[in-house]
This record gives sequence, C-alpha cells and structure tokens, in this order.
Amino acid sequence: MQYVSTRGQAAPQSFSEILLGGLAPDGGLYLPAQYPQISGAELDAWRKLPYADLALQVLKKFATDIPEADLHALTRKTYTADVYRNVRAGEDAAQITPLRVLEEKNGTELILQALSNGPTLAFKDMAMQLLGHLFEYTLAKQDAELNIFGATSGDTGSAAEYAMRGKKGIRVFMLSPHKKMSAFQTAQMFSLQDPNIFNIAVEGVFDDCQDMVKAVSNDLEYKTRQKIGTVNSINWARVVAQVVYYIRGYLSATTSNEQKVSFTVPSGNFGNICAGHIARMMGVPIDKLVAATNENDVLDEFFRTGVYRVRKSAETYHTTSPSMDISKASNFERFIYDLLDRDGDRVRALFSKVEADGGFDLSGNPGSDGDEFKKIVQYGFLSGKSIHQDRLQTIRDVQAQYGVTIDTHTADGVKVAREYLTPGIPMIVLETALPAKFNETIQEALGRDAERPAGFENIESLPQRFDVMAPDLAQIKTYIARHTGL
Ligand SMILES: *Cc1c(COP(=O)(O)O)cnc(C)c1O
Repeated sequence: MQYVSTRGQAAPQSFSEILLGGLAPDGGLYLPAQYPQISGAELDAWRKLPYADLALQVLKKFATDIPEADLHALTRKTYTADVYRNVRAGEDAAQITPLRVLEEKNGTELILQALSNGPTLAFKDMAMQLLGHLFEYTLAKQDAELNIFGATSGDTGSAAEYAMRGKKGIRVFMLSPHKKMSAFQTAQMFSLQDPNIFNIAVEGVFDDCQDMVKAVSNDLEYKTRQKIGTVNSINWARVVAQVVYYIRGYLSATTSNEQKVSFTVPSGNFGNICAGHIARMMGVPIDKLVAATNENDVLDEFFRTGVYRVRKSAETYHTTSPSMDISKASNFERFIYDLLDRDGDRVRALFSKVEADGGFDLSGNPGSDGDEFKKIVQYGFLSGKSIHQDRLQTIRDVQAQYGVTIDTHTADGVKVAREYLTPGIPMIVLETALPAKFNETIQEALGRDAERPAGFENIESLPQRFDVMAPDLAQIKTYIARHTGL
C-alpha cells in the first residue's frame, strides 16, 4: 500500500515512512493511493472478533510494510480492558467501545458509542495509545529517537502524554497556556512523573503556544538536529485507528450486512469524522455521517452551503465544548480530495486560496470555485450546530430521560443527532469525552458534580511536575536542546 499527497506533488511513500512525519513535502496530507475494500464475507467474519483482532484486520490493510505478527502484538497490547477500564456501571470494559441504547421510538434508535474509557477520558486515547506502541516499535527497529513537540489546550496533550509515557526512544515536550486549562486537565497532565514527559506552562494563550510549534516546524535545521516530530490530528495512523471503531459500532448495532447505520460525530478538526468517511469508502454500510459543531460552525456552514470559510483566531469562540473550538479543520483537505475525484492540482489551488483569501466556494453559484457541493448528498454528509444553551438543555434532558450524564461535546452530538433520526437506521452518537473532564459545565447544567471514574478522585491534589516559561521561542528551543542533549 502506497500513500499519496492530496496536493499531488509528493513521491508515494509507505505506511512506515509517513508514520513519524506530518504534512507531505508539498504541503498536502497523505492518503492511500486507493482505499482497501472490505467484502461482505469479511464483515461477517469480523462480527465475532474481539476489538484488538478487528483492529489488526483493519490495520493490516493499511500497514502492509509491517509484519502481521508484529501488528498483532501491537493491537493486543493497545486494546485491552485494563487500558479502557473507565466504563460506566453496566458497561463491559472488554468491549473497548461498548454501545448504549438511549432510546428506541417509532422505529428510530439513538445509541451512544463509548470511546472515552481510556486513560485520559477522551476519544483521542483510542488512536493515540496505538500510536505510542507503533512509534516505539518503529523507532526501536531504526535504532532512532523522536522528540514530540506540541501545543495543547487540553485533550490532545494529555492523550499524547499518556500514550508516550515511559516509551523508549521518545520524549514529549508539551506547551500549554499557563493557568488556562481546567483544574482536572491540568492535573491530568502535570501529575505525570515520567522522566520522558516535559510539561511547559507558557505565560500566554493557546495561540502563543501554537505559534511557537509552527515556528519550530518551519525551522528545518533545528527540527532535524533535535529529531522533532508531532502527533497532531493529521497523523495518518491516528485516522486509521479511528476507522476501527466505526466498523465495531456498525457490527455491534446490526445483525446483517443488509442493514445500515448512521453516525453523528462531535467535530472540530474533522479527524474523527474523516475516519468515518474512510470506513464508508471501504464499503462499510454507513448511511449518513453527521458533523456536529458548536458555536464554531465552519464545518456546518460548508455542509449546508458548499462555502468553506475559515475563521481568524480572534473570531474563534471560546465555548464550553472547547475541544471543538477550531478556526479551520486540519483534516478537511482529505475529504475535499475525494470530493474532487482526487484531483491534486485543484486541491492545491483551493488550499492556496484558503491561505490567500480565507476560503473557497464549491456551491456552484456564479463565480464559485466549483459545483461539487451537489455531490455532498451522495457522500452522505449532513451537519448541525449546537450552542451553549442547547448543550445545557441536552445534558439535562439525557440525564432526566435516560439517567446518563454526558459531556459537553457529546451533548452537541446528541442535540444534532436528534434532528436526523430515521426509522430503520440506528443513529450512533460518538461519545468523545466523559463528563468528569468538563465538570464546570456539568455543574451549571445539573447543579452537581459529574461522577468520576475510580482512581481520579483526588487527581488535583497529586504532586505536579511542570516548568513555567515566557512565550519566548529562543528560551524554549534551548530548554528542549538541554533535555535532549542533541
Ligand atoms: C478532539 C475532540 C473533538 C474533535 O475531534 P476532531 O477529530 O478534531 O474533529 C471532539 N470532542 C472531544 C472531547 C475532543 O477531544
């Protein structure tokens, strides 16, 4: 299996070659040259598989340059009940992503798929835990090391640190805005005592952190010498790992391949829902993929109008579903590439337009850049938007009707999913975080604290390990060099 760039000008690469990198050299994102297909017979055979073995079957279609026995060892290590143990009462941790039917009414079904039972209580663990094992495996083979440098406002940083802690050949340098994350998220990250994890609290806002990461990624000499890598949401292996739970969700909600399901996905960078698109391109009988956004509705606007208009950072709202507060969706280019029938030249032109003019228009209206919007329906995409009041109302309502507390991002998903329930087609909402992570809003909605999984009771009082630094690129580069010794 070879991987090509969405901008059409990079040499094809293997899975292992793109694993540790980020963007393709032409500025595009990597995708497989063709999507591997899943036959009906395979789907039948996969119905009974444990999650780790299903992950192997999917992964081996993409990672064709890694021996199957090694992939099997990696998926077995990653998807175990003791890693995904933060289940609710009545859920079976061994299922890894158990389904919970919230409602069956007039032939419609509303289902929650729990993706947040991993160590950091957000769905990012599903892919990041696999990435940690894949990185360690690949680095050991090459006798190489990697220094991951990233910026986080919460979920990504903690998922990366819990996936990479204690891994040989890997260090993590994670910038976060000093005193701007929730107490729970801060405690999750800063209480890690592993010597390969470095938390840097920057006296500034998230954009200051992000700018420094970008500056380093443009500094080729420093990046090469310090062996800097990233684990952001454009990483291809993360997308592949996410394809697995769409297939698991489909198989768990159906009994035959004649049936279809739909998914609603709380979306920000389009990474999660992009994996759903790929599952469908591989032949999984998915009816609709519904992108749910919060007040930052770049994606909802596109799926309603065909106009993609990125926001400036000053126009980005700080919301109570903060992991969806994005101004542009970094994985969106992968979908656009397919929508434009894989025409790399046009994708390159459109995304240069994003840089120059802040967007593009595929509505087909006079003066637009194309008319592919009419094909969106054929691809089965729908969207909707949820704002703070909807979020509070949905959290209350799901608690009152079904006795389940959901987090703020999942609430955006449930709110939008309810607009698209269809008889005969189960609607699965991906649960992207557990409510304990966003307790302030649970308090506001329900007037009480969210329940905490066992082991998290006193997390805020654990000793914390971090360094506070000014938003000064030179100082931060020196800090990294001092710790890597390179
Ligand atoms: C990252 C995240 C999202 C958004 O996922 P994308 O892949 O960026 O679309 C939604 N909810 C939670 C809780 C997250 O951490």
